[in-house]
Amino acid sequence: MSLTPMKQILDEARKKGYGVGAYNVNNMEQIQAIMAAAKATQSPVIIQASRGALKYSNFTYLKHLMLAAVEENPEIPVAMHLDHGNSLDSVKQAIDLGFSSVMIDGSLMEDGKTPSDYDYNVKVTRSVVEYSHKFGVTVEGEIGRLGGIEDGVGSGSIHLTDPEQAGQFVKDTGLDALAIAIGTSHGAYKFKGASNLAFDVLKKVRELIDIPLVLHGASSVPKELIDRVNKYGGKMPGATGVPMADLQKSITMGVSKINVDTDGRLAVTAAIREVFATKPEKFDPRDYLGPARDSLTQIIIGKMKDFGTAGHAGDYKSMSLEDMKKYYK
Ligand SMILES: [Zn+2]
Repeated sequence: MSLTPMKQILDEARKKGYGVGAYNVNNMEQIQAIMAAAKATQSPVIIQASRGALKYSNFTYLKHLMLAAVEENPEIPVAMHLDHGNSLDSVKQAIDLGFSSVMIDGSLMEDGKTPSDYDYNVKVTRSVVEYSHKFGVTVEGEIGRLGGIEDGVGSGSIHLTDPEQAGQFVKDTGLDALAIAIGTSHGAYKFKGASNLAFDVLKKVRELIDIPLVLHGASSVPKELIDRVNKYGGKMPGATGVPMADLQKSITMGVSKINVDTDGRLAVTAAIREVFATKPEKFDPRDYLGPARDSLTQIIIGKMKDFGTAGHAGDYKSMSLEDMKKYYK
């Protein structure tokens, strides 16, 4: 029983033309909700933790929660992925904890805010690829800049990916998966008007490179969740996300990994607000964390069906990191 390399999960998804959600976690209930959804729909799954999440959970707690997820669900391929690593040191830390995949975001400097240049991005990404592949660990990089700021990550400005540069970046770094910027943003306020993704950029990138593509900032911010949050005392006017139809279109055009954090946060918050507002006498954390977990499970079940991940857990036998070490050699 061990974690599955993310490269295998994404390569299998590409072969069959479905997308795999990468869901962010900070605590036990979130991991349990994701695994319950994966089990209910028989989906392979990517669980990801940001640097902020690792710090929040004191590193070791998250490591053992993720091992518990694998132990409890041996039939589900699970990759554990570092979201927005900012340096080789942050990647080393995740690999020491046993992660099977890492992201190095060299589109920003180590502060996670200042836009970098191409040469910096290649240098830091290549150093992470060289280090991680020795352990059989998958590497995701990023080229172009997303909008929005989340967990302290982001420059606040959008810069769409240049397809030619993306092609060169893959050659220069040897990475396994590439996050591109086609107009999505981190957070719950993605668009001023209607969603407006640059599908022409995605099409050109897909023509020029042959590795799995990743969309960050791809939560849909469903209206029913926002309404529920606001109904029970929340204050999130004008929150917007990427419509599921746009995500499904991007999957048909070659996106394999879809990052979802905001929608999970909303599902948890809506459920907790509802309990607090409707049952003010409750004070046992299980009375609100339990419904929060159920609410998150339902949202993720929906995504696994909509992305086409459902039913694919048993398609293949998970490779080990040892297998991947040999492959990279
Ligand atoms: Zn991101």
